[in-house]
Amino acid sequence: MDNEIRFPVDEMPKQWYNILPDLPKHLPSPKVPEELREKVKSVEKVFVKANLEQDNSQERYVRVPEEVMDLYKQVGRPMPLRRARHLEKYLKTPARMYFKREDLTPTGSFKINTAIPQAYYATKEGFIGAATGTGAGQWGSAMALAAAMYGLDCVVFMTREAYEWKKDRRALMEMTGAKLYSSPSNITRAGRLAVKQPHAYTMCEEPMEYAIDHEGYCFPQGSFYNFVCLHQTIIGQEVQKQLELVDEKPDMMIGCVGSGSNLPGFINPFMREVINGKLRCKFLAVESEASGSFTKGEYRYEYRNPNYPPLYKVYTAGLEIEASRPFVYAEGLVGTAKNPALSLLVNEGLVDATAYPSDEKTIFEAGKIFWRNEGILAAPESCYAIRAAIDEAIKCKGSGEEKVIVTCISGHGFLDMPGYIAKAL
Ligand SMILES: *Cc1c(COP(=O)(O)O)cnc(C)c1O
Repeated sequence: MDNEIRFPVDEMPKQWYNILPDLPKHLPSPKVPEELREKVKSVEKVFVKANLEQDNSQERYVRVPEEVMDLYKQVGRPMPLRRARHLEKYLKTPARMYFKREDLTPTGSFKINTAIPQAYYATKEGFIGAATGTGAGQWGSAMALAAAMYGLDCVVFMTREAYEWKKDRRALMEMTGAKLYSSPSNITRAGRLAVKQPHAYTMCEEPMEYAIDHEGYCFPQGSFYNFVCLHQTIIGQEVQKQLELVDEKPDMMIGCVGSGSNLPGFINPFMREVINGKLRCKFLAVESEASGSFTKGEYRYEYRNPNYPPLYKVYTAGLEIEASRPFVYAEGLVGTAKNPALSLLVNEGLVDATAYPSDEKTIFEAGKIFWRNEGILAAPESCYAIRAAIDEAIKCKGSGEEKVIVTCISGHGFLDMPGYIAKAL
């Protein structure tokens, strides 16, 4: 009985899967307001062209470049899938629970899966540096490491709250040679303005401005964009192979949602089968009430980046919420605008959503149960997905259903002990 399901490295999926051509409806086009027409050019200049093309491509499969493949292997791919037999026993559930282990990467989260190709394409297109923003720090550390591997300079704006309490994350980034700023900082106009008017602030504005103002700098993205989800489908395609190996089909797939890249990366290859009528499976997006986009928000046009075009049709609870929300340890889940394709799938009823309270007590309780039974210390963000998986498994106990529940562990929690100490001890 093998609880850790693996396959040989040379059987890694060699392409990314793009959901855009398979969506049940055409994805609404981004909008540019008349007064911001001129600004589009400066925005496009700091995006890597290959990524912009991927962002609204209708090509179903995109080959993973050889060099990216080699680095995927170097960071430990393929990642194992865990059958959580100890947890099942502890819960006394008839459900069969599987967990995809994105906690095993060098920077401790799935973000490296897109950081590597973004650094690869940026270098190929002649960029010399990258400016980016990070909240929790997982994206910042992934991008900083990928940039270092490619010899790109890297500047990271880290939201002030996280900058203050996540000193270890900061050190990880600084050791790669990245330059870090607590954001809002005083080195950009947006930052200086945000110090005076905190309500106007979002994390993406400073790196955007920095990249526009510095020749040769690009502005890589940790989530939200369709091209990021494309890169992340390496996760779901590996899970497909792993479930085939144990002759299982998922009844339900669960993941947490920040701006929406790890969940699409995990479920989109399965979504294709559902859309084609080849699989019956429910998908569950788990968010924090601090963001609440799917559960309290609207499906409408919203900026990814205030003051910068375009606007995207997405689920959002309004950008203002980001300035007024309560503190949560799962910083990775606080972005309010969600990936456009995932938003469409939620609106079409193909993905369900649920939210957990921002006091995070039940979240860290789930994390503690998982640690104790499986020996995996999950990131606070991942604990939202684990909480939902446990709750579903408990429902199966009532109904006697032997559901196959597959959940993505988006990252590890070794640098998030303050959250566990505050909430789970
Ligand atoms: C970034 C992050 C998330 C949120 O992911 P999205 O792809 O933005 O939805 C969740 N968990 C961890 C560990 C993260 O680093």
